[in-house]
Amino acid sequence: MAGLPYIVGNWKMNGTRAMLNEVRAIDRAAARFPKVQVAVAPPATLIYRTRDAAEIIGVGGQDCHPLENGAFTGDISAPMLKDAGADFTIVGHSERRSIHGESDADVKAKAEAAFAAGLAVILCVGETEAERDAGNAETVVSGQLDGSCPLAEGAVEKLSVAYEPVWAIGTGRVPSTDDVKAMHAAIRAKLVAIYGEAGAGVRILYGGSVKADNAAELLSVPEVGGALVGGASLTAESFLGIVGAAA
Ligand code: PEP
Repeated sequence: MAGLPYIVGNWKMNGTRAMLNEVRAIDRAAARFPKVQVAVAPPATLIYRTRDAAEIIGVGGQDCHPLENGAFTGDISAPMLKDAGADFTIVGHSERRSIHGESDADVKAKAEAAFAAGLAVILCVGETEAERDAGNAETVVSGQLDGSCPLAEGAVEKLSVAYEPVWAIGTGRVPSTDDVKAMHAAIRAKLVAIYGEAGAGVRILYGGSVKADNAAELLSVPEVGGALVGGASLTAESFLGIVGAAA
C-alpha cells in the first residue's frame, strides 16, 4: 500500500462561509504534518471558497452526477466540481446509497465521470448492522466493490476506497480492530482481483465515528491507509486531533 496516510473530512450538509475559518486553521496546521495528506469535502457551495482559502489541503466534492450537463435540476457534474477547484470527489457514500437510492451501477457511473473530469475518487462501501449480524458483511462489501469500482483506463491510479460500516457512521460505535483488519484484508483481496497488481496500491480508508481518541488505534490496523471523518471534521480542533494521530 503506497502513500501517506490520507485524512479526509466529509462535512456533509454542514457549513456556510463562517466555516472558512476552520479551513484556514486546518490548512495552517497541515503544514506542520507533512507526512499526512489532509483534505476536506465541504458542501458544493463552499468548494470554490475553500480552494481559495487553503493552500495545502485537498478539496473535494461529496457526490457528482454521472453526466457532464443537462436537465438535472439540483445536480452537480464532475466537470463542475473540477471547475470549482475540487481535486477529488466522494461517491457512493451510504447516505447517497440509502437516502437517494443509488445503486452500485450509479456509483460506478459517477466514479467514471469523475475520472473523466480529472478528479480523484473516494469510493465508499460498507454493510448495515443487519448484514453484519447475519454474517454477510464481507459478501456485501465485496458485491459493492464488484458493482461500483470504476473500470475506465487509469482509474485505479486515482482511486481510494473508504470502508464505512453504516452502523458506525455518526453513532459513536466502531468495529473491533480485528473486524476492521479482516474487512480491509478482504477489500484488498477484492481490489487485486478486480485490478490485478494495481489493486495493491489503492488506498483503503476506514470511516465511521473516527475521533482523536480512537484514530491512532484504527490507523495502526494493517491496510488502513487513512480515515474518512464526518462529525469530527467539523471543527479544526477535533479534525486536527485526528490528523495529529496519523502523523
Ligand atoms: C461519514 O459519514 O463519512 C462518517 C464517517 O461520519 P462520522 O465520522 O460522523 O461517523
